[in-house]
Amino acid sequence: MGIDHIPSNDFSLYDHILDAAVTFGAIPPRYASLQGLDLYFAMARGLQRPGSVDVASLPMSKYFDTNYHYVPVPLTPATTFSLAANSKPVQEFLEAKALGIQTRPYIVGPMSFLLLARASKDATSGFSKLSLLYSLVDQYAALISELDAAGAEWIQLDEPHLVMDLSAQEQAAYTEAYTRLASKIGGKRIKVLVATYFEGLESQNAELAFALPGVHAVHVDLVRGLDSFERVLAIAQKTDKSVSLGVVDGRNVWKADLSHAVGLVQQAVEVLGAKRVIVASSCSLLHSPHSLDAEKAATNADLEMIDWMSFAVEKLSEVAVVTKAVNFGSQSVKEALDANKKSVTSRLTSTRIHNPAVQERLRAVTPAMTTRKSEYLTRRAVQTKLLNLPKYPTTTIGSFPQTASLRRIRAQFKKGSIKQDEYERLLKEEIATVVKFQEKLDIDVLVHGEAERNDMVEYFGEMLSGVGFTKNGWVQSYGSRCVKPPVIYGDVSRPSAMTVAWTKYAQSLTSRPMKGMLTGPLTILCWSFVRDDQPREYTAKQIALAVRDEVVDLEAAGIKVIQIDEPAIREGLPLRRGKWNAYLKWAVDSFLLASCGVQDGTQIHSHMCYSDFEDIMDAIIQLDCDVLSIESAKSDLKLLQAFQERAYPNELGPGVFDIHTQRVAPQAEMKTRVDQMKSCLAWDRIWINPDCGLKTRGWEETEAVLKNMVQTAKEFRAAA
Ligand code: GLN
Ligand code: ZN
Repeated sequence: MGIDHIPSNDFSLYDHILDAAVTFGAIPPRYASLQGLDLYFAMARGLQRPGSVDVASLPMSKYFDTNYHYVPVPLTPATTFSLAANSKPVQEFLEAKALGIQTRPYIVGPMSFLLLARASKDATSGFSKLSLLYSLVDQYAALISELDAAGAEWIQLDEPHLVMDLSAQEQAAYTEAYTRLASKIGGKRIKVLVATYFEGLESQNAELAFALPGVHAVHVDLVRGLDSFERVLAIAQKTDKSVSLGVVDGRNVWKADLSHAVGLVQQAVEVLGAKRVIVASSCSLLHSPHSLDAEKAATNADLEMIDWMSFAVEKLSEVAVVTKAVNFGSQSVKEALDANKKSVTSRLTSTRIHNPAVQERLRAVTPAMTTRKSEYLTRRAVQTKLLNLPKYPTTTIGSFPQTASLRRIRAQFKKGSIKQDEYERLLKEEIATVVKFQEKLDIDVLVHGEAERNDMVEYFGEMLSGVGFTKNGWVQSYGSRCVKPPVIYGDVSRPSAMTVAWTKYAQSLTSRPMKGMLTGPLTILCWSFVRDDQPREYTAKQIALAVRDEVVDLEAAGIKVIQIDEPAIREGLPLRRGKWNAYLKWAVDSFLLASCGVQDGTQIHSHMCYSDFEDIMDAIIQLDCDVLSIESAKSDLKLLQAFQERAYPNELGPGVFDIHTQRVAPQAEMKTRVDQMKSCLAWDRIWINPDCGLKTRGWEETEAVLKNMVQTAKEFRAAA
C-alpha cells in the first residue's frame, strides 16, 4: 500500500505485552515447569490438566484508556531476565525478510515494560520495579544486537508512559535506561524509534524524549496531542532526531482530513527537512477495525456512513497519500485528496449529523436539571416510606443467566425468522421466570433480567438516533475476544422509549419494587466510537438527555427504583492528571443530567465495576445517587476504606460475591464480607448484592449463590 516502515512482531497469539514478558524470560515461578505454548497460554488463561497441572492465569489490566486488555507480569526483587533463544521478534523479522520484506520490529520499551508490570504481592514491601531496570535493559540490548545481526535497520520501542505524568525518579530512570542501552548497542547500525501515543508530550517529557541517548526518532500522536506539535518541532529542531508524525487517527473510525494532515507534515518538513520526517498513524492500528470491505459487501450497507469511515486498511492508504502529497505535490494524488475532501465535508455538513432540536435542548440545560429536588436525607425519608424495604435490602445488578436458547431467540428475531409478537411472547415468558425466581429467593428489589439485551451499550445504541452500527467493525479486547463498538456519528436523541414496556411488564408481575435498568451516558460514550467534530462533553450530555427522558418515562410508568449503570466512568479519565478535573466535572454533570429528572421518592441506583475509585471519590460522592453498588468481593479493604474516610453519606452495596466464577461463595465468606462493610460503613446504609450482573453464569450456581446471599442478609437483619 506504499508503506515504507512495515512493523513486525505486532501480531500476537494473545497479548503483545505478555509476548515481551516471554521474550525476556520474566516468567513467574508458578509457571516455571511449563514450556512453549502451554507456558504462554497458562499465563494468559490458566491451565488445568487433571492430575498434572492446575495454575491460574495472570490477571488482566486495561491498556491505558483503551478497551484492550494486556497481561501485566508480576515482578519481585528475585525476577531475572534472559532473552529467549530464537525469540519471537527475531523469528518474525526473519520470516518477513525471507519473503523479501524489510520490517521494523516492534516491542514495548524497557521503561514502559516495567511501568506496565505489577509489583508482585510476594515482593517485599518497598520493592521498586525500577530496581530491575539495568538487568532488563541488558536483555533489550541483547535482543537489539540479534536483530541488528539479522539485518534489521530499525527497531520500534513503544514508550507510551512518556505522555503520562512521570515522577522525577521515573524521568531520571528513562535517561538511565536509554544511556545504558546506547552504551551497549552504540556501534551497531540499527536505529531506534521510540513511540509515544494517546496524548501529546508536555514540555518536560518532550525534552526528555528527544534527549534520550541512542534514539534516532520519536513518534508523536498528533490526533490526541495536536497542541504539543509546535513544542515538539521546536525541541526536535535542536537535535538531529527524526520525528514520526501520527496524523491518522488509530483509535477512531473516521476518515482523516487529509489536507489538514498534509499541512502538518509540510510544517514539520519546513523545520526539519524531509529526511527527518516520518508519516504514520497516531498509534497501533490494533485499536481500529480491520477493513471497510466487509462493510461495503454487507446487504443494506449504509453507504453514506461508510463513505465517512476508514478502518485499519484504509488508514494505511491515508498515510501513503499524505506522504505522496508532501513528497511529490498535491497534484500527484489529486484524485484521492479531492475524494477525501468530499467525504469529510459530507460528514461535517450532513443533516444526519446535525439535529438543531438536540443542540437547542443542550444549550437550554439549567443547573436545576443537574440537581435532585431535595438533598439525600430528605429523599431517604420519602423513599423509606414508599419502598418499605427491610434493613440490609437485597438486590442484583441486572442481568440473569443468558442461556444459549435465549441468545438463539434474539439472533432469530434479528434475522427475521421469529416475528415480533412471537419474540415478545418468548421474552415475556423469560421475564416471568426471572421474576418468580427472585420472589422465591425472597430478594427485595427485583430486576427483569435484561434478556432482551445482547450488550448493555449496543442495546441502547440501536435505539438512539445519531448512533450507527458496523457489520464487522470488531476490535480486540483481550485474547480472541473482540468488541464491536457502536458508532456515535451525530447528535444523539431518543425517538421513543427504550425499556419502559419490558420494565412495566415485569413490574406488573410482582408487588415488590422492580428496578428499571439503564446504561449511563459515560459508559455509552466510553464503549463507542465517538464523533470527533465536537467535544466529547457535548456528546455525553446529549446521551444524558436521552437517558433522562427514559428515566422520567420509567417513573411515570410507576417504576420506583431506577439503576443507571456507569461501569466506565473511571475509564474516561484523561491520561494526564492535569486534565482530570475538567473531565470529572462534565462526567458528573452528565450523570446528574441523566438522573435528576425524578421526584424525591424515586430511588436512583448506580453501579460501577472494573476499577478502583479511591482517587475519584469526590466525583463519586457528587453523583449523589441514592444507592451505589460496586464490585468489591475480590478487592481488599482499601476500596471500602475510601468510602469510610469520606463518610460516604448515601447507601452502598459492595458486592458480596464474585460473579466471574462458577464457584458458589459460601455464606461464611459473605458474612465476613458484610462484617468488613460494617466496620467501614453505617450499617443502615448497607445493601447486599453481587459484584455485577449474572449474565455469564449458569442457573444452577446462580440459584445456590443467591440463596446464600439472601440468607446472609437475613442473619444480619435479625441481629440489627
Ligand atoms: N446491569 C448490567 C448487568 O447486570 C451491568 C453490567 C456491568 O456493570 N458491566 O449485566
Ligand atoms: Zn458491573
